[in-house]
Amino acid sequence: MILIYPPVAKPSEPPAGVAKLFGALKRHGIPCRLLDANIEGILSLLNQPIQSSDTWTSRAVRHRAAHLKELRDPRGYKSPDRYRRAVLDLNRILVKSTCDMGVRASLVNYVDQELSPLRSRDLLRAAEYPERNPFSGYFMKRLDQIVTEGEHRTIGFSLNYLSQALCTFAMAGFIKREYPSLKVILGGGLVTSWMNRPGWKNPFTGLIDAMAAGPGEQWLISYLGHVYKPGEDAPDFESLPENRYFAPGFILPFSTSSGCYWHKCCFCPETAEGNAYKPIRSSRALEQAEELAEKTGASLVHFVDNALSPAFLQEIARRGFSRPWYGFVRGNSLLADPDFAHALKRSGCIMLKLGVESGSQKVLDKLRKGIVLETLVHILKAMKSAGIGTYVYLLFGTPPEDLERARRTMIFTAQYARYIDFLNVAIFNMPVCSKEAEAYGTSPFYEGDLSLYTDFAHPLGWERSLVRSFLDKEFNRDPAISSILRREPVLFTSNHAPFFLIHGQ
Ligand code: SF4
Repeated sequence: MILIYPPVAKPSEPPAGVAKLFGALKRHGIPCRLLDANIEGILSLLNQPIQSSDTWTSRAVRHRAAHLKELRDPRGYKSPDRYRRAVLDLNRILVKSTCDMGVRASLVNYVDQELSPLRSRDLLRAAEYPERNPFSGYFMKRLDQIVTEGEHRTIGFSLNYLSQALCTFAMAGFIKREYPSLKVILGGGLVTSWMNRPGWKNPFTGLIDAMAAGPGEQWLISYLGHVYKPGEDAPDFESLPENRYFAPGFILPFSTSSGCYWHKCCFCPETAEGNAYKPIRSSRALEQAEELAEKTGASLVHFVDNALSPAFLQEIARRGFSRPWYGFVRGNSLLADPDFAHALKRSGCIMLKLGVESGSQKVLDKLRKGIVLETLVHILKAMKSAGIGTYVYLLFGTPPEDLERARRTMIFTAQYARYIDFLNVAIFNMPVCSKEAEAYGTSPFYEGDLSLYTDFAHPLGWERSLVRSFLDKEFNRDPAISSILRREPVLFTSNHAPFFLIHGQ
């Protein structure tokens, strides 16, 4: 079997999902090959000759090797300006090398002028004409090579982001055309969300032989005709080639759970899709992370859980950890304790991503976030005093918010700006399968049978255009807030933020 991680996703770290599946297959003695077509595809496009007709592209091409070297060197994160130039120059090369094909591929996204990843018929068209895809020069050769190297019967794609969908289908179409006897199967986060849509029916029959929702280890092993033996499926990164990611050292992505232990926030797809929470016992999760960090020589561990559980945080704070690490947390009271924050720091915690969402307690309560603003303030202060960076996530335009409550968020953010290192500002989308969509939903948000969001009539009239205008004209212009926004690592955002905290000073 071959497991493929398709382009385009941020090329800063290896894919966690396929490494987990690979580990499970290995434990069951099932031969498998792992292909990170994302990093390989991006590097292949970056290295191909390009006709540059403008000064920016010529400069970018001239410096591409140096820029790549910089992003893989801790010193590349000392100067935000040089870092920005390196990222934007490399991105420019990708954009320029794909635009003639009617596509805008970047380091973090993939947009086709004609085809939408939200429409099944467009995905099928991508499969019908794989040559249209700017990565085809790379993947046709690579797939030919890898398929003929071994005796493979099944090819699985890990499809997690919309930016991967059109490339996944182009690759699947190529495989079905050239190797019709091979089975093509799909799994991953995006596929899970599709399959959790109300009234889901597979529109890809004939091209895709099977699709799996949720953690796929057990499903995959049964699909391949084996009996799943309950046991520990640790990720295995060994079969990936040497570290070629855009980062100074190997970043180990590791998940201590799937789903979310809180599972109550009413706007969140985790709640809307009813995904089950499955944690690894905290002590074992920590041991596994240590073992993998040692094996891979990781210089940073990225805990990719939706939210690290209090039990795991207590475990890592108590036992310590051998590598710098970061991850997403909920604002629970444990984190407000300065002693606990210092213990986390001693365990190697570099940065916590914190879902604050709103500076209005009423909004937080209505969203069932289960957090208290006062506690959040204590958390921000405790983290600052311990020397742990914070990446604060805000969400505007939710159903209980109006202009006055959005302004409260602005005041809150500005007031505590000195305790916030980075900000992520998003506008609310209504998940199509949420309970709230039944109350407020109107028509599909985007035109497409695969859209995960629905348009909705805001109960307080706080429509997206008004939210956007508030963000542009008020929020982003606040001097304290804009100075935080300026620190955001361009394109790579939170994936590169820890390096600025580690190497930036
Ligand atoms: S804590 Fe995060 S992942 Fe969990 S339900 Fe709330 S928003 Fe979703």
